[in-house]
Amino acid sequence: MNLTEIIESRRDQHLAELCEFLRIPSVSAKSEHKPDIERGARWVADRLQSAGFKTVQVIPTSLHPLVYAESLEVPGKPTILFYGHYDVQPAEPLDLWTSPAFEPTVRNGNLYGRGTADDKGQVHIHLKAFESLRDVNGKLPINVKVLIEGEEEVGSPHFEAIAAKYAPLLQADGCLWEGSGFDKADRPILSLGTKGLLYVQLDVQAMNVDAHSGTASFLLATRPGPCQLAYTGWPCAHSWFLRRSHHSQRSRTRRHRCSDRYGRTADGGLWSQRVC
Ligand SMILES: [Zn+2]
Repeated sequence: MNLTEIIESRRDQHLAELCEFLRIPSVSAKSEHKPDIERGARWVADRLQSAGFKTVQVIPTSLHPLVYAESLEVPGKPTILFYGHYDVQPAEPLDLWTSPAFEPTVRNGNLYGRGTADDKGQVHIHLKAFESLRDVNGKLPINVKVLIEGEEEVGSPHFEAIAAKYAPLLQADGCLWEGSGFDKADRPILSLGTKGLLYVQLDVQAMNVDAHSGTASFLLATRPGPCQLAYTGWPCAHSWFLRRSHHSQRSRTRRHRCSDRYGRTADGGLWSQRVC
């Protein structure tokens, strides 16, 4: 059988396994679900093993563990890191569910259950793709690393430390992050270089003197200390810094260093504001 035939022939089996995964209420935000989180991590580790990964490890953190696996069997081929998470959001409010959150149910050709679309469905697709490819070809066509975490839905508090500690282990030529959706024409969407959370702290030294609105645009900040009036002709009041810094985060060039309209950055010596 070729790859498509194998996948088609296992459709019911794959769906049943996904439902098994979805029935584990691995809610990372609630301590009473800690045993379910552990069960979720173990479930993923076991499935990676049965998908043929020889190196599989559960990496503990002080909260919820990550699962790591690797298959590096094709020297010279690229290595792709697959990221996903086995934890889910709490199901509350429960009365808004048509069917129970942790009892996956098919309605109108769609599967409903907490985690189906984020991220257990995607994780499971990857697991079954690895398994099926290995069954057809005897090995995967590229080198693969897999990292499935259990804290994504609570902001990944230990992910940065783990990524730093295991940096050599996680090195790859590219990373496939969770999954994606379908566009209106039912084509799979592949987004490039757009994932991640950006935390920005804006510290702005505000004026400590009253100012008439008519002169606000001429106020210049000095380092250190309060603002003073300086008729420079540059609109450099704090509100403008804030406005430009917000704007720069939305710009097409994704610049996160903030600068004034002359391109000078906040750490250029003249400006006392630390705006990014
Ligand atoms: Zn997610």
